[in-house]
Amino acid sequence: MKKNDLLTLKIEGMGNEGEGIGKADGFPLFIKDALPGDVIRAKVLKTKKTYGYGRLMEIVTPSPDRTEPPCPVHRACGGCQIQALSYEKQLEYKREKVRNQLIRIGGFSDPEVLPVLGMEEPFRYRNKAQFPFGRDREGRIVTGFYAGRTHHIVPNADCLLGVPENRRILETIADFMEKEGIAPYEEASGEGLVRHVLIRKGFATGELMVCLVINGEALPGADGLADLLFQIPGMTSLTLNVNTKNTNVILGDKLIPVRGRTYITDSIGDVYYRISPLSFYQVNPVQTKRLYETALSYAGLSGTEVVWDLYCGIGTISLFLAQKAGRVYGVEVVPQAVEDARENAKLNGLENVEFYLGKAEEVLPEQYRENGIRADVIVVDPPRKGCDRACLDTMISMGPKRIVYVSCDSATLARDLKILCEGGYELRKVQPVDMFPQTAGIENIALLIHCDNKKIPASSFSTAYN
Ligand code: SAH
Repeated sequence: MKKNDLLTLKIEGMGNEGEGIGKADGFPLFIKDALPGDVIRAKVLKTKKTYGYGRLMEIVTPSPDRTEPPCPVHRACGGCQIQALSYEKQLEYKREKVRNQLIRIGGFSDPEVLPVLGMEEPFRYRNKAQFPFGRDREGRIVTGFYAGRTHHIVPNADCLLGVPENRRILETIADFMEKEGIAPYEEASGEGLVRHVLIRKGFATGELMVCLVINGEALPGADGLADLLFQIPGMTSLTLNVNTKNTNVILGDKLIPVRGRTYITDSIGDVYYRISPLSFYQVNPVQTKRLYETALSYAGLSGTEVVWDLYCGIGTISLFLAQKAGRVYGVEVVPQAVEDARENAKLNGLENVEFYLGKAEEVLPEQYRENGIRADVIVVDPPRKGCDRACLDTMISMGPKRIVYVSCDSATLARDLKILCEGGYELRKVQPVDMFPQTAGIENIALLIHCDNKKIPASSFSTAYN
């Protein structure tokens, strides 16, 4: 098989990024937009030693699990990988993916992975979107999403995963830029001013936040833009974020207020939160509630426990748990998020929570070594790369009865669960929660219980804590 070959294939499986997998003479090809059950014509794009990539050219016989994708740019846009798959099958696929990773990476023989908690309405669920600005061939200002693995903008002001208000906000900004002669940022030259816009909506409060990321320190005519944007119902916060670096990272560190507050508020369950542009906040509030309720039930609190919530963001899980715990300590590395977290504790009148600014892998070992801290329950919710080894080792040394691991990446979850189980924990169950319908992403929440009589191998301890 070589590049540009045309083949007919039956798709029999799905890769971790939602690609269809079909075999040609036993050689697996990964094909974007092909679905299990399809018979397709594919063109070979690239071959490696044991697998290759192909492009979907034609669907000869469609899979019975196909559905009509409502978004006209679902193939060109990099956002949704599996919109053409029925939602029911999306959930089955995600459960299988998690199970496979726990077996393959985590070394578990028969892990208990519960059926995925899916959504009733799996569109328009995102409370946050980040749109890049650029120009089309005619030189007009466009905004939309990057096509998969590129920085080519596929114009789309009304993503069906996002809120309907996005369109009016984007059109208002693009019109304003055309009228004022403000150029979008160009990555190649590093010139131009407007890079991205971050839009967030509090689903419970209706409050809207717009944060324009600029390659400079000021936006000419910012007041005029504020006048236009604040005509949109719900507009609460307009800020500028300064990012003058040549980087893929969207947000810089500096925030300049333009109009309204510098944050919005939202609530999940009975807990209120204020959210700054620089703070992490779960993107799917409907599913977040179910995620946090599961975290609370897995924590098994009776009212007296000491809980550590590592990677706590604006204290969302910490405050949820504080309602039922003795004392909760949160650890988070982004200063604005810790500021939000402390405000949020006050906002909810919760006095049994305390937040540490710093890296979990530094704060926890330090507090354990110097202050002999203990925990009945540890909750972790790290970014995709998972927990640092020093953090896991300290958790094992502290030996809480329960560990609740919340994860948005099942591969690093499997890796970390293996380490925790080698350190004396038993994996009870994993609950996948579909926070990202139409995409290959899946959130998980795992419950680990300390095995009192299981011998903990010495190698699980870093010498620093012995
Ligand atoms: N539990 C929160 C946030 C989870 S996202 C919620 O549900 O909203 C992960 C968080 O970890 C982010 O806020 C990120 O800023 C933070 N983070 C990333 N690396 C970290 C580290 N090494 N130590 C502590 N926090 C970290």
